Amino acid sequence: MKVAVLAGGVGAARFLRGVVAAVDPAGVTAIGNVGDDLEILGLSVSPDLDSVLYALAGRSDEVRGWGRADETWNALESVSELGGDDWFRLGDRDLGLHLVRSEALRRGEPLSAVTARLAAALGVELTLLPATDDRLRTIVETRAGAFSFQEWFVARGHRDEVDRLHFDGADSAAPAPGVLAALDEADVILIAPSNPFVSIGPILAVKAIREALENRRAPAVAVSPLIGGRAVKGPADAMMTRLAGGTAPRQVADCYKGLIDALVIDEADADGAEIPGVRTIVTRTLMDDADGRLRVAEAALEGAAALR
Ligand code: GDP
Ligand code: CA
Repeated sequence: MKVAVLAGGVGAARFLRGVVAAVDPAGVTAIGNVGDDLEILGLSVSPDLDSVLYALAGRSDEVRGWGRADETWNALESVSELGGDDWFRLGDRDLGLHLVRSEALRRGEPLSAVTARLAAALGVELTLLPATDDRLRTIVETRAGAFSFQEWFVARGHRDEVDRLHFDGADSAAPAPGVLAALDEADVILIAPSNPFVSIGPILAVKAIREALENRRAPAVAVSPLIGGRAVKGPADAMMTRLAGGTAPRQVADCYKGLIDALVIDEADADGAEIPGVRTIVTRTLMDDADGRLRVAEAALEGAAALR
């Protein structure tokens, strides 16, 4: 079975571990967000792609909730001591990956190609594609000014309320090689329980990807990142309230208007959750262990199968 999954970072990584437990990973293509990418200390960092890589390679830190397990921070301490840019947390093991990627990009290798090499080296069996090889960056507009995503999220601790988002470079960004084929050949299209605005939004800002979803032949199912109207972690609920007018399933579905046939929601959100034109699939959506990850993946896959 062929499955294409639009994927952000940590929420997507949890979900994808369930997906590859439910179906043969050889048929799974994750289409990842690059709107969060940044250059820092001379390195090219792709936080969401790396969250997926580390989780699928079994190397993510489940307690901290991001980055690599068994991480140490010597290089960053040295950066701090020397007065360098130390606001973005880069661990020693993580830095090794950024060195390899940065060197490859510098000599002209596309992001999709180096990502494939990293995935293979880490033993990741699914196919991970960046949404685009072109430069696409999420810009967060607030009353305090416009910030790059990581500046807003990490440096300023996402304290500024978001008035608007835009995606620099999206107008001219082409899907990375393999992205449109994966969507076209998919038996099922899934949208991971990622932040709709800053994780899935930048992927859908690539015009040809949005059009591929609009014109899909396969059923498309999204998984809500909210449980009881609250994000498991991060600013998705605050952003939903401000930018989508609420945190109910209907508002989550509205983020994907015309792009999905069904939405997986948590039991805690099921009361009165009728959404015109979108079927709801109710389960417990917390994925804090292997059972939870498999349950949510199966709910989405079975929901899609019922639509075919
Ligand atoms: P980020 O870029 O690393 O923040 O990753 P994502 O955008 O992929 O994931 C963040 C979203 O994942 C948040 O809105 C969380 O609410 C959601 N999330 C994290 N864990 C879970 C989970 O176990 N279940 C559900 N339903 N959502 C989750
Ligand atoms: Ca992210």
